[in-house]
Amino acid sequence: MGQVRCEIIAIGNELLLGEVLDTNTHWLCRQLTGLGGKVTRCLVVGDDPEEIGWALKSCLSRGANLIITTGGLGPTADDITLQAIAGALDLPLEENPEALEMIGTRYLTLYQAGYVQEPSVTPPRRKMALFPKGGKPLFNPVGTAPAMLLEYEGSYILSLPGVPEEMKGIFRSSLVPFLEKIFGQAFYESITLSLEWGDESSIAEILDRVAKQHPNVYMKSRARAFGREVRLKVTLAASGSSSEAVSRAIEEALSHLEKELASRGIKVSKA
Ligand code: AMP
Ligand code: MG
Repeated sequence: MGQVRCEIIAIGNELLLGEVLDTNTHWLCRQLTGLGGKVTRCLVVGDDPEEIGWALKSCLSRGANLIITTGGLGPTADDITLQAIAGALDLPLEENPEALEMIGTRYLTLYQAGYVQEPSVTPPRRKMALFPKGGKPLFNPVGTAPAMLLEYEGSYILSLPGVPEEMKGIFRSSLVPFLEKIFGQAFYESITLSLEWGDESSIAEILDRVAKQHPNVYMKSRARAFGREVRLKVTLAASGSSSEAVSRAIEEALSHLEKELASRGIKVSKA
């Protein structure tokens, strides 16, 4: 099927208000790319079932193979992600016994450690076990809300909590083998060069020419500001199913680029 196409939906009013920076999307993009997936789109929506439903359907309509949501899994009334997913996909929302058990065990541990005053599964805690039919819970080793993995018409929908440490905890403890399996044998490599040169526009033509001759290598210059000490960064990245082929593609593009830059008198070092 080629590279697995991933889309991310970050959910939360606080993100749209500018109160919280959406670091989850950035972190997930790095992880998914590093494991060999291809992130093709990221969206940010508020805590609104219509918006969440629209975003999810738009990801499905583009044929995303893996859709990851973050946020909105907690015990409060504005945590509506799973409810919104069930609504958008026309799936019944059901209490998941496995999720309920995870929540019960987690609160008991937190009670025994003196972190909460009440060990029982109260209605707000119980709410976190309401899953769209078919959704599988993933244990949350950091917080309380289990994550959810749902297979829907050939795509995977993965819902993770918004709290960054919880999201990362679940990703690291439950998801890496699953992602390696669906991404298949995939390798990603990147190298960043620092150029003793500040003007991006004057090397645009070189980059364009070299990039055209190495279509499997993504090449991007990153300008900052103008000035004597300004160094331009250029990143070369590639992915594929053989680590040798990926390294070779980057090496070839790199030596080509270095030669072209040297002919213009531009010094290059590894960043
Ligand atoms: P939630 O799971 O939606 O209740 O989110 C809990 C908390 O996690 C929020 O109050 C934010 O501080 C944080 N958070 C939620 N989404 C993100 C995100 N995309 N990036 C970084 N922090 C987030
Ligand atoms: Mg939220």
